[in-house]
Amino acid sequence: MTALTSALDYASISKYFIASFTRGHLLTTIYCSILVDKITARLRCWSSRALSYAARCILINSVLLSLHSYWANIFIIPKNVLMEITVVCRNYLWDGKPISTRTPMVSWEAICKPKCYGGLGIKDCYMWNIAAVGKYVWNIASKTDSLWLKWVSHVYLQGKDFWSYKPHKTASWTWKQICEVKDKLKGGYTGDIWSARALKGYSMGSGYTWLSQNQNKVIWQKWAWNRLNVPKHGFICWLAMSKRLRTKDRLYTYKICKDDTCPLCGQYCETADHLFFSCVYSLLCLEKIKYWISIGCKASGVNKIYRWLDKDQGIKFKKGVQIATITAAVYQIWLQRNSAVWNLQVQQPDLIVQRIKADVLCRVKQLVPMKISNSDRAWLASL
Ligand SMILES: [Zn+2]
Repeated sequence: MTALTSALDYASISKYFIASFTRGHLLTTIYCSILVDKITARLRCWSSRALSYAARCILINSVLLSLHSYWANIFIIPKNVLMEITVVCRNYLWDGKPISTRTPMVSWEAICKPKCYGGLGIKDCYMWNIAAVGKYVWNIASKTDSLWLKWVSHVYLQGKDFWSYKPHKTASWTWKQICEVKDKLKGGYTGDIWSARALKGYSMGSGYTWLSQNQNKVIWQKWAWNRLNVPKHGFICWLAMSKRLRTKDRLYTYKICKDDTCPLCGQYCETADHLFFSCVYSLLCLEKIKYWISIGCKASGVNKIYRWLDKDQGIKFKKGVQIATITAAVYQIWLQRNSAVWNLQVQQPDLIVQRIKADVLCRVKQLVPMKISNSDRAWLASL
């Protein structure tokens, strides 16, 4: 086992597969608990640090799931282990700890969607495992010349067509898993998706992308995930646009609060659209920052913002700064709304606008590329 996990070489993979085919389910849950323990140990290190949702999301994607991806490259990971990994990551995202009873604001399935489809782009363990097993399906289908592939053809296929082949009920667990994945990816393989020259055959990344497509794209993707956004602002914006923030209209539906009145104006029902784009308090803040950042549209509703987002695609830098400013405004308005609910006090719009300007300028100056035009540089300096 140590040798298999320490080296991702073809000989080890072949050895593992021949052993798993002949002995049945070689990689048991007990072996995989090492993987879950490693992930949990890393989370315990970080749980003492006060990280924002956005930072936790980056950690989950870059470190935790890369551990899983490495293992998925070599082994077929059992479903109950994948479930454990998912629970640990989900708890860490929403509560900063590997063990938690807190109810998540968004389902894990929605979170694992790519950003263009409204998710956070966190890798889905189940789908990644399917994509990883797809590598073996590709090898069998493309008839790569190797010892274990010849062995598989001789023992199982025996001259039968691979795509219509059904494994016998006495076949090993590993072989049944490969055949199950073969059926899931059949459309891509037989549709020549991976045979196209540009893709240079199958890869786990291309398999994962193929499995995640065919969903509805969201129109606010470039808003929430604009490069110049402060990450924690982008995260709150994502929750707001997904209608998953705990605004009073939702809490009232679940009978968690007694009324659904907006805590900032005290007049209308608190929906996400009202709170950020129609409330008198928010409009005061937005008017001031629109003037500061030269945004021409009248932000009297979320739809007007969407229309403005679609305009002027060419002016990338200026538009990026403007989007970052609107995102910062959503974040600050949400903080004021929470302060109104919990502390019964709200700060003056002028103060909020100053904070938004400071946050945006600090972020943009950190990230500003050296290649921006002189006119963009002059515009930034004038802010
Ligand atoms: Zn209001």
